[in-house]
Amino acid sequence: MSGSLTTTELDRAHVWHPFTPTDAWFDPKFQPVMIASAHGSVLLDEQGNAYLDGNSSIWTNLHGHNHPAINQAITEQLGRVAHTSYLGLGHGPGSQLGAKLAELFGPDDYRVFYSDDGATAIEAALKITVQHFHQIGQPQRRLFVSLGNGYHGDTVGAMSVGHSTFHTGFFNAMMFPSVEVMQPGCYRCPHNRATPLRDDARQYRQCQWQCLAALEQVLRERGAEVAAVILEPRVQGAAGMVMHPEGYLAKAAKLAKEAGALLILDEVMTGFGRTGKMFAAEQEGVKADLIALAKGLTGGYLPLGATMVREEIFQSYRGPIERTFYHGHSYCGNQLGCAAALASLRLFETENTLKTVQERATHLKQISQIFWQHPNVGDMRQDGLILGIELVEDFATRRPFPFARRIAYHVSERAKKYGLLARGAGNVLILMPPYSTTNGQLEKMVEALYRGLVEELPA
Ligand SMILES: *Cc1c(COP(=O)(O)O)cnc(C)c1O
Repeated sequence: MSGSLTTTELDRAHVWHPFTPTDAWFDPKFQPVMIASAHGSVLLDEQGNAYLDGNSSIWTNLHGHNHPAINQAITEQLGRVAHTSYLGLGHGPGSQLGAKLAELFGPDDYRVFYSDDGATAIEAALKITVQHFHQIGQPQRRLFVSLGNGYHGDTVGAMSVGHSTFHTGFFNAMMFPSVEVMQPGCYRCPHNRATPLRDDARQYRQCQWQCLAALEQVLRERGAEVAAVILEPRVQGAAGMVMHPEGYLAKAAKLAKEAGALLILDEVMTGFGRTGKMFAAEQEGVKADLIALAKGLTGGYLPLGATMVREEIFQSYRGPIERTFYHGHSYCGNQLGCAAALASLRLFETENTLKTVQERATHLKQISQIFWQHPNVGDMRQDGLILGIELVEDFATRRPFPFARRIAYHVSERAKKYGLLARGAGNVLILMPPYSTTNGQLEKMVEALYRGLVEELPA
């Protein structure tokens, strides 16, 4: 019997948390926040303390928590059926969501393959690509090219095309080889000759686009083997909100096409309005061959993944039974998830969500300038409602804090006291609020994070 134990005690006795250093969780001085409920951009813990959701519940939430329209859509679907198999069966919410997604990407151009989350949407994209090249008589094309520090999820295939510092040596032997090209991250680029300024490094960089030259070289040397170039468009999230210089995406897409390779875009984080457009690739007029979607797909309410696939790729799967895509998950196309996604996408129309994102982004840009007053802020970059603030031990040399210092973690921890739940990456503080966040709440978020910074690193 566990009746007398608190939820925290039960958790510490029985549960294991993702991406959570174990000893820190068990530190008696550390009081885990146990969420009890939420409304809009506010989360309430079991003691009734309120926190602003500064990371949109790990980049998933769009319209706020407990939104009546999404709640209602899920409840109505629940009254009919929660889940049935998508293997050889269909259902209304899946068809309607497919049509809606196709409409967003260009009707008649794409078809959707459902999965469960970001990693599984990526796995499907990789396998669809490899089987496709077999079916069009180019089986030698099975190599993937991806970016340094790229992150596409934690399953083995997704790890194999990722080059993330999270996946330390343990798993190397499990992974298939892929080609890494340098990330187009201006602040830490070895080719950027500019001396640091208190500005976004993309704006004052001095380089000759060596990042594109690196991609071009790989495609020149190994292009005939390359199945696809896969990347996070414009913003590499888990890398620490590394933002690419304007134009990189369009040029990289052109290089991939010229090499006869497919382009897979991972819009798992950037999709559904995060950058101010529905999809980040729209900012540069790029149409990918495959697009992975998850996180915000259901508005952040239920796990659902989707891989958009160009119709002509799908056509190579027509014909004899050997061309079947023998791949899927028990919960592919889950009805509740599809109903939530449809409700979330309707809100974009009824609430004019993209306009709100753009307005909030402008306000966030203005109020976040305060961070430049702090000597340890080395770079500050923003795209829509994604803000990354890179901390450095030394501004002039861009010397980073040691990884083990967990600087962004400690600053964010301190911001909790001031009512903000944020989660950084390495040396990068991150603010990524739900679109429901008001200007006043944005100000509170910035203030809380700045106070946390000043407390952790007295200027
Ligand atoms: C989070 C993320 C993933 C993985 O998605 P999960 O739902 O966590 O599996 C993949 N790509 C990007 C860009 C992400 O941010």
